[in-house]
Amino acid sequence: MATAVARFTAAALTDRGRKRPSNEDAFGYSVEDGVYVVCDGMGGAAAGEVASSTAVDEVLRVFSGRNGSAVLPHDAEEAICIANEAIYSRARRNYKLSGMGTTLVAAVIRSRHVWVLNIGDSRCYRLRAGHLEQLTLDHSLVEEQVRMGRMTRAEALRSPLRNMITRALGTQSHVTPDCFDFDAEPGDLLLLCSDGLTRELPDALIESMLAGDQPLEDRCSSLIEAAKKAGGHDNITCLLVQANA
Ligand code: MN
Repeated sequence: MATAVARFTAAALTDRGRKRPSNEDAFGYSVEDGVYVVCDGMGGAAAGEVASSTAVDEVLRVFSGRNGSAVLPHDAEEAICIANEAIYSRARRNYKLSGMGTTLVAAVIRSRHVWVLNIGDSRCYRLRAGHLEQLTLDHSLVEEQVRMGRMTRAEALRSPLRNMITRALGTQSHVTPDCFDFDAEPGDLLLLCSDGLTRELPDALIESMLAGDQPLEDRCSSLIEAAKKAGGHDNITCLLVQANA
């Protein structure tokens, strides 16, 4: 008997939001190669856009056409190192791009096993049986304070230091992502998103908006519209991946 291979579907959307002059978020995915990426860039002028799009392109390129042969999670970590180097060396060659960097959250899927890797404060959530769970831990100053019990979540949201991330791609010669993995169950829904979504909408609202059976595209646009209504202070990106039943 052939091994059952889970089938996945995906949709994604990004929006400039209501306050920022440009969109420095980027996303990309290939269902065929089993790779999904969201990045949130930072840096002066257009540098943030360069950093985030370079990271997405590099990770997709590494996995292009080799879902079957990639050794996981090693090759996913390797892809992130390659992306890091590409951004870092580009920043060093061009002073206008100096200091640019990006967050990254990626899901790499083989058969029904899922690896989630992250750097910075872009997040991955999993909706399973109606319950939303955050799988990644933010690499941000305030979230680390919250985890150590030195700050409440409400204080973190208001803190003037809330934008400080403690790990980024492209700002140093080496970087190590966190890696989480699990077996997908039929119906599991993964949300990869930038902080422009999670700072505007509480998890409970995201959970209720993801439930239901509207097309993934519609759920992406509902989330983005809600984040814009809530203020839209930042660029907003969401990428949904569903394990089909
Ligand atoms: Mn952001």
